[in-house]
Amino acid sequence: MTKVSDRLNRLAESATLAMARMSRELQAKGIDVIALSLGEPDFDTPEFIKEAAKKAIDDNFSHYTPVPGLPELRSAIVQKFKRDNNLEFTPDQIVTSTGAKQSLANLCLSLLNPGDEVLLPCPYWVSYTELVKLAEGVPVEVPSTIDSDFKVTPEQLEAVITPKTKLLMFSSPCNPSGTVYTQSELEAIAKMLEKYPDIYVVADEIYEHINFTEKHFSIGTIPSMKDRTITVNGVSKGFAMTGWRVGFIGAPLWIAKACNKIQGQVTSATCAIAQKAAERAMLADPRSTTQEMRDTFLKRRDMILAKLNNIEGVKCNVPEGAFYVFPDVSCYFGKSDGTTTINNSDDFCMYLLNSAHVALVAGDSFGNPECVRISYAASDDKLMQAMDRIKKQLAQLN
Ligand code: PMP
Ligand code: GLU
Repeated sequence: MTKVSDRLNRLAESATLAMARMSRELQAKGIDVIALSLGEPDFDTPEFIKEAAKKAIDDNFSHYTPVPGLPELRSAIVQKFKRDNNLEFTPDQIVTSTGAKQSLANLCLSLLNPGDEVLLPCPYWVSYTELVKLAEGVPVEVPSTIDSDFKVTPEQLEAVITPKTKLLMFSSPCNPSGTVYTQSELEAIAKMLEKYPDIYVVADEIYEHINFTEKHFSIGTIPSMKDRTITVNGVSKGFAMTGWRVGFIGAPLWIAKACNKIQGQVTSATCAIAQKAAERAMLADPRSTTQEMRDTFLKRRDMILAKLNNIEGVKCNVPEGAFYVFPDVSCYFGKSDGTTTINNSDDFCMYLLNSAHVALVAGDSFGNPECVRISYAASDDKLMQAMDRIKKQLAQLN
């Protein structure tokens, strides 16, 4: 009999990390798996950021830091928010954490009472639903399809608002669809929210620098949203620093204090050395630091779209940011190669993993079960090979 808590039993394993684990297991058996499952840049952290960390070790940044982060890091984040996003914060409104994932966990645990509802435009990042559930909140999915470029409208959101609605949580650029909400789309959502002053917005902007439209807009800059928006960001994606584990929020003071309180009991603070590296990243010119990566991702996006559009039945839109494509593969549901039948996107991904040795992530856990997520944070060569394998494998299905 299992002895773990009901809370744990209600929690799903992270689908992204589960697929990464299964790919590693097959690779360990000597199978040549091309893993396009995990969302992390295949670039190394820039040298000048690594130098700052080496210096931090020599300067003995080996102690606990204040719970929300070193004062110099928080002040660098304040400057970053002003410079890049036109968002005004004071250092006590900033909380740095062990990745944006912990920032989101802090927020859910600090803000949600049991039964509070959180609006999640689909597709959403896999961990949103699970973090909401962990905090005993209720995820409310707001559907979208590839035909609207995976965008939801203010009317769709308003239709599911109830007296229990506490948060709207979304990422733009979006993981997994790459969708970027424009300024006018966000203004329309903000206008609708003016009628509901008790709803707060969690704006996850972690893919800010991987935006091919060049027009990142922060919903928190809209005057009516200023005191109701928590802007989440981090160094993982834009600065290729996934393993350093630094994320942060800029939030109304009472929310920053609440997150600080939770974090003080859970992790104390993130790693001091990583904080010094993140401080250096925040002070750098983001355009030039991230340009090469952005250009490379854009080239790969076009390459992968060309390949996918050449596969029978696969339906793609053109993602405007992040490093994912999220094609609709539902035309394969119900088909079989004579041995295996594909009933849903999970079956589709397992079929490709076991037969073509390509790892993708099923759309179910992102709220769009007709789709799959392909991360193109991999070399051109691997991407080409993967697309060829997928095409060949899918041709076996009838
Ligand atoms: N938000 C989104 C949309 C993500 O894709 C990720 C995945 N890295 C995170 C937050 C968490 O990032 P991290 O914890 O690495 O800062
Ligand atoms: N956020 C990345 C992804 O979506 C990394 C994995 C994770 O943290 O879940 O693949």
